[in-house]
Amino acid sequence: MPELSHSELLELDRRHVWHPYGPMPGRQTPLVVESASGVRLKLADGSGELVDGMSSWWSAIHGYNHPVLNEAAREQLSRMSHVMFGGLTHEPAVRLAKLLVDMSPEGLEHVFLADSGSVSVEVAVKMCLQYWRSLGRPEKRRLLTWRGGYHGDTWQPMSVCDPEGGMHELWSGVLPRQVFADAPPVEFEESYAEHLREMIERHAGELAAVIVEPVVQGAGGMRFHSPAYLRVLREVCDAHDVLLVFDEIATGFGRTGALFAAGHAAVTPDVMCVGKALTGGYMTMAATLCTARVADGISRGEVPVLAHGPTFMGNPLAAAVACASIELLLGQDWLAEVKRIEAGLRDGLAPAAELPGVRDVRVLGAIGVVQLDHAVDMEAATRAAVREGVWLRPFRDLIYTMPPYVTGDADVGLIARAVCAAAKEG
Ligand SMILES: *Cc1c(COP(=O)(O)O)cnc(C)c1O
Repeated sequence: MPELSHSELLELDRRHVWHPYGPMPGRQTPLVVESASGVRLKLADGSGELVDGMSSWWSAIHGYNHPVLNEAAREQLSRMSHVMFGGLTHEPAVRLAKLLVDMSPEGLEHVFLADSGSVSVEVAVKMCLQYWRSLGRPEKRRLLTWRGGYHGDTWQPMSVCDPEGGMHELWSGVLPRQVFADAPPVEFEESYAEHLREMIERHAGELAAVIVEPVVQGAGGMRFHSPAYLRVLREVCDAHDVLLVFDEIATGFGRTGALFAAGHAAVTPDVMCVGKALTGGYMTMAATLCTARVADGISRGEVPVLAHGPTFMGNPLAAAVACASIELLLGQDWLAEVKRIEAGLRDGLAPAAELPGVRDVRVLGAIGVVQLDHAVDMEAATRAAVREGVWLRPFRDLIYTMPPYVTGDADVGLIARAVCAAAKEG
């Protein structure tokens, strides 16, 4: 195939390639990225570079083309990029599991390596349902969550996404019907804690697990809540024989100012999912961690195995880069970088609060959010950000940023100005 001109590439893209949440053929013209380095995306049309305010959907925490991650990939590539994981094992996967166990909340000891965040949530759900089945309680097979969540786009994860944003209407009768509590308030309110207690107690007989995103609800609405609710969930779940799953796919690896958001509450879930930043944004990999109790329960059941095994499970290339990314993170004062970005976003986004049409401005860790009182005009907002030299991807009524931790102060300021510009024009 001959090299494609810019316009040929866009035309073929429009005609043949699905994009996330897109129609076919595509209606929006995407920007073509030629390469990426540090915090900058280089565009192919010669129009220059954009500072990435999205970390490629919150994954590229160390920025692009990082020499340490590149070297880890190159080194592993020269040995093997993949071998099957059934009956075989290898150092990158074993080292990664050990790193994850050591850094995650006390008590999580076993690691299932999955190939995407959604699959890691599927595995978490399977673990919980199978745990109760193994204990002779197969009726415990529903999930409880709170509204406003997002857990991925495959079926089980979809069933616990926010019912309004999650297309539940379209799939009623197809999706498993789960139990929904109200969305968690920002601050701790005893009446909401009571609501959680009451819901869990009422449904305990049929609940396998409660699954939530701790502290930050991401793609469901970029909302923050008090970590104290996590302690309430832990207590109530323990009291009523319900497992607790934390989906840390968005919050893991320092994003909220704790290595895992569970750390804000010093709570250990029974099952925890990580993904997104696991490989520093280099390639797809996720993991489901569980406690010895969950693993033992499953392994003593009538079907004493966890029947799940993706083809690319434990992919050595991804695992090697994940190890390098975690060591890079832990080998620096990551908290200082996250706090520095937090301060920069607080300063830089403050003026947005004065803009007409802005409902709320909030910052937590390396996450900055401007919420409008109307749906964002995506095209206008994106154009405004690009004009400022920044890549943003707003959704619904939200313009937000999750910059790479290596974003310098000047670039954090630039991103904040772009968010404000997008809020003004979106
Ligand atoms: C992105 C995300 C997922 C899904 O991960 P994929 O890798 O996109 O399948 C699940 N849960 C949360 C909290 C996420 O942010």
